[in-house]
Amino acid sequence: MEERDVIILGSGVAGLTAAIYNARAELKPLVLTGMADGGQIATTTVVENWPGEPDGIMGPELVQRMKRQAEKFGAETRFEQAVSYKANEDGTHTIKTDSNEYQALAVIVATGASARWLGLPDEEKYKSNGVHTCATCDGAFYKNKDIVVVGGGDAACEESDFLTRFARKVTLLVRKDRLRASLPMRERVEKNPKITIRSLAQISRYLGDEKGLRGIVVHDNKTGEESEMKVDGVFLAIGHVPNTSIFKGALDMDELGYLRADQHTETNIPGVFAAGDVADHYFRQAITAAGTGAAAAIRAEKYIASKRHADRR
Ligand code: NDP
Repeated sequence: MEERDVIILGSGVAGLTAAIYNARAELKPLVLTGMADGGQIATTTVVENWPGEPDGIMGPELVQRMKRQAEKFGAETRFEQAVSYKANEDGTHTIKTDSNEYQALAVIVATGASARWLGLPDEEKYKSNGVHTCATCDGAFYKNKDIVVVGGGDAACEESDFLTRFARKVTLLVRKDRLRASLPMRERVEKNPKITIRSLAQISRYLGDEKGLRGIVVHDNKTGEESEMKVDGVFLAIGHVPNTSIFKGALDMDELGYLRADQHTETNIPGVFAAGDVADHYFRQAITAAGTGAAAAIRAEKYIASKRHADRR
């Protein structure tokens, strides 16, 4: 059993920002990276909306630089995945990974959320090379191109509408006969002349070559027919899955499985703080994740100081 002041779960933008803050406060935080080292942004290409980078910065480079910054101040990162969490009676927290057991005074949960993918053959091959899950991040690469958005919820509508800033044409593929999105979002897409809604349709196959995606095969859910469609890019907006399974029964979550945290990032368990997408299904931006990462680190630092003060009495 290894004892630590702060353990940060997750090595995306939220976790690494928390690590920079806690390391500068000389808490020597331990970052357990999880399997997706660098988080979601490490899987994107150019990030054009990170403040201070007018020429854009590659997602992997951004998190590498953050990691270097955190380590420079004394943070330690280990490529380990937390497999269980337990709140102890003395107010400490136990985290187990496959290879280690840790006890910490404070825990910052920054395990993120993973975009849901269709799971079709070849999807890996076209990830970030024709198939995307974030219009805000990658939409600008599709100026005057033809795009397909998959999904029927608010996110699919919002992304379709947003993508018409760049795209020549957006086709929204909805697997059911109707959108489940809220009325204002539905109206927004229905009124947008660049968007065509194609209901009862879903992608059954990606078409392309080494250079990237060239088209899709669309399955008609009413007739069962399959047809080819030429398309430059596909954006999936079929929901996200928060990485919270190890906290079930311990930390409060909403109906979608996202952690409930207050505006100071505090969860229902004292000493456990939530930062980034694991507690945010709305903004899902690197900069907002960094903001809550910093907030969580500051709260964790104050929590540890007051706990030590109380324990000394
Ligand atoms: P939702 O879960 O609301 O919608 C997911 C959509 O994806 C559904 O239409 C679902 O279809 C479809 N889908 C799921 N799996 C597949 C698949 N394999 N193939 C094809 N389609 C599939 O997720 P969202 O991300 O849209 O929204 C999440 C939450 O965030 C919601 O509460 C939403 O209101 C909120 N949000 C709000 C926004 C706003 O108000 N501006 C913007 C974005 C999100 P089906 O309907 O058939 O189940």
